Amino acid sequence: MRIRTAQKQLIPEYGDRCITPPWGNPHAHFRGICYWKGVPTDVRKQQEALMRLVVPIQCADPFWMAVAMPNLKVPITSVGEALCYRQQIRNLLSERSDFEVLVSIQLHLGTTLEMIREACCTEGTTLSGRPCPRVRLAKLYPAQVTNSPIGVDETDILCDRMMVVYEEMVKQGMTLSIHPEVYCGDDIFSCEEVFIPILEKLSRRVPDLLISVEHISTRELLEAVLSLPENVVGTFTVHHLIGDTADFWDGQAVSDPFNFCRSVLREERDRLALLGAIADPATRGKLSLVLDDAPHTKKAKENGAPGIWIPGPIAASLFLEVCEEHEIPLEAVIEVACLNGPRFYNLDIPERTITFERCERIIPEEIPIPGIGDVLVPWRVGKSYHWQLAERA
Ligand SMILES: [Zn+2]
Repeated sequence: MRIRTAQKQLIPEYGDRCITPPWGNPHAHFRGICYWKGVPTDVRKQQEALMRLVVPIQCADPFWMAVAMPNLKVPITSVGEALCYRQQIRNLLSERSDFEVLVSIQLHLGTTLEMIREACCTEGTTLSGRPCPRVRLAKLYPAQVTNSPIGVDETDILCDRMMVVYEEMVKQGMTLSIHPEVYCGDDIFSCEEVFIPILEKLSRRVPDLLISVEHISTRELLEAVLSLPENVVGTFTVHHLIGDTADFWDGQAVSDPFNFCRSVLREERDRLALLGAIADPATRGKLSLVLDDAPHTKKAKENGAPGIWIPGPIAASLFLEVCEEHEIPLEAVIEVACLNGPRFYNLDIPERTITFERCERIIPEEIPIPGIGDVLVPWRVGKSYHWQLAERA
């Protein structure tokens, strides 16, 4: 890392090696099944095999924390289930016992105030003495956009019953994480924009609610999040900064299922808006990088399952690359990839450093999923990436 002096500040730059703090991933999908009563054996085996494979890969350097989303085949709705799921993830991380796993519950019309209070009971304190709630966030999936059987209908998102739950979340300091889409039938390109008025109403009606708007893909939603009060923040993914609508859509239908995710990949205008907001010190404080790493078997992807999966270290490399290409300073990368997410969840960021070195590597073709005779296909197989982690000192 080279350091140049400007206005008496030391500003980190990309060099042949660059050094950052450890990275956060405040939106992860680890699969698995917590309670599998009623789930067919083959589905359970497949979900568990995926979990065993992806947890160690996604929880390796440069990442030190992840927020595990609750939309499993049987969604996690109670604190007991969330804590059980956290333990299952931790059990796969014996090598990385310092990895911070945050878990979430999925909101639905049956969520009670007691569930919210129970979630926010503390279990000790951090090194700097901050209280640690057991579950720090609740996730809201609108109905029909995510295959979730308990997704909340768009008209119910602002109903009285849900309002009371949001108010309790404010009292407890719990974050609402939102999948920002409304079901629009075959029109998969309008879902995000249609959600904007709902978000704005929600923010007006519960002004103190901490809201994380996940995987922003359009300029319109980005502008909406940036214009809302500071307790409304947004996340973005690497694939939405690089991929394009043309990568999966032929004008009529999905032409490449391996480039299909929700929210869908967008146009250059959207990518430039996101990159501009990351570069701008006035706006990037509201934004965090997430992997939103959705692993599916090759068979499921070929059958249209939405989601993109990139091994964590390669996703970090692609992010460094796209930022450098757009002359976004490394300090901006550090802010959105390392600092903002953990800060939003009140975590103390570890003091150790991560070193990347320039390289020329190829994204692997496929990774076998042991025990189920299928493979996991990383995004952009065969393409190159240009940063790798240096050996840990
Ligand atoms: Zn997700």
